[in-house]
Amino acid sequence: MKAILFKGRNQLELGELPKPSPGAGEVVLKVHDCGICGSDLHAVQFGLGLKPDCVLGHEFCGEIAEVGREVRGFQTGERVAVLPFTSCGECDHCRQGQGYHCARMKSVGLGPLPGAYAEYVACAQTSLFKLPADMNSRRGALVEPMSVGLHGVNRSRIKPATPCVVMGAGPVGLATLLWCKAKGADPVVVSEIAPGRREMAQRLGAAAVVNPREYNPAAKVRELCGRLPEIVFECIGVKSTLSEAVGLVDKCGQVVVIGVCMEPDQIMPLQCIFKEVGIQFALAYSRADFEESIAAISSGRINADPLITDIIALDQVPAAFQALSKPTTQAKVMIEFPH
Ligand SMILES: [Zn+2]
Ligand SMILES: [Zn+2]
Repeated sequence: MKAILFKGRNQLELGELPKPSPGAGEVVLKVHDCGICGSDLHAVQFGLGLKPDCVLGHEFCGEIAEVGREVRGFQTGERVAVLPFTSCGECDHCRQGQGYHCARMKSVGLGPLPGAYAEYVACAQTSLFKLPADMNSRRGALVEPMSVGLHGVNRSRIKPATPCVVMGAGPVGLATLLWCKAKGADPVVVSEIAPGRREMAQRLGAAAVVNPREYNPAAKVRELCGRLPEIVFECIGVKSTLSEAVGLVDKCGQVVVIGVCMEPDQIMPLQCIFKEVGIQFALAYSRADFEESIAAISSGRINADPLITDIIALDQVPAAFQALSKPTTQAKVMIEFPH
C-alpha cells in the first residue's frame, strides 16, 4: 500500500509498505480521510522520538476492510471514526473512559503505532466509533480535532451566558469557539494575530475578533456585556500566553489551557492569588467527548465543515508540510483517499 513515511527531521516521503493485517481484536480500515494536525507538524520538525519509516496521521475516518479474530459487533463496509490510541481497558482511567491516562497507552499515528497517512491502518475494536449513515467521511475525520476543543470546554465551568475569550484561532481555537457557542457561552471573543485566521473566527460566529496587539480582548468582552471574561481558553501554546490568559480573566475566573507549550514558561503566582484564578489543563479527549462530537456534528448542532480549508491527495502530503511550516491561512488540511 501507499504511505507517507517519516524519514528524519523535516523529511517525509511517499513510499510503499505491506498492507497491515488485523491482529486479534483488531480491524483494518481503508482510510477515507485523515487530517493534518499541528502535532504532526511539530513531530516532523523536531523528530520527537519518531523512528524512521513510521507513519503519522491520527485524525482519521475510514471503512472497515477486514475484521480480525475476536472482534464483536463490527463488520466490513461499516464506517468508523477512531480514538487514536490503545490502552489496557482495565485500569481506573480506562474504566472512566480516559484511556489517554492509562500507563499502557500507545498512540496511533504519533510514534508507537502506525497512523493513517496510508491507504490502510490497523485499529483496536475498542477504539472504533460507528458513524451515522448521513455523516460523511470528511466530517468523520473532524471528530478528533473537534473533540480536542470539546474536552477543554467540558473541563471548564461553562454555562449559558458565560462571557469567554478564546486565545488563538488555529484549528484548536476554532473548535473551542464552536463548542463555546454550542453550549451557550455569550459573548465569545476570539483573540488572534493572523488576519486570515481572524476572518475565519468571524465567519464561525465569534461575537468579536480582535488582534491582541491592537486591542485588549478582555476590554472587548466588557464592551459587549459589561463584564470581564469569566473563562479564558488558551489555544496557542507558546511562551507567555498562559500569563496573558491570567491577565485577561476576571477575578475568580478560570483559565483553561489547551494549547501545548513545549518549553518552560513563567506565571506570576501573586497575580493568580490576587485574582483567585483557577487554572485547568486539558489533555486529549475521553470516549464521552468523542460520542458527543459525533452526535453534535451529525445532528447539525455543530457545523465544523468550514474548518476544512484544503483537500489534498496522499502524494501531496510532503509539499503540504512544507507549506504549513510557514505562516498560512489554512486551517484543517484534509488528506482524502479515493473511496
Ligand atoms: Zn491532532
Ligand atoms: Zn488502562
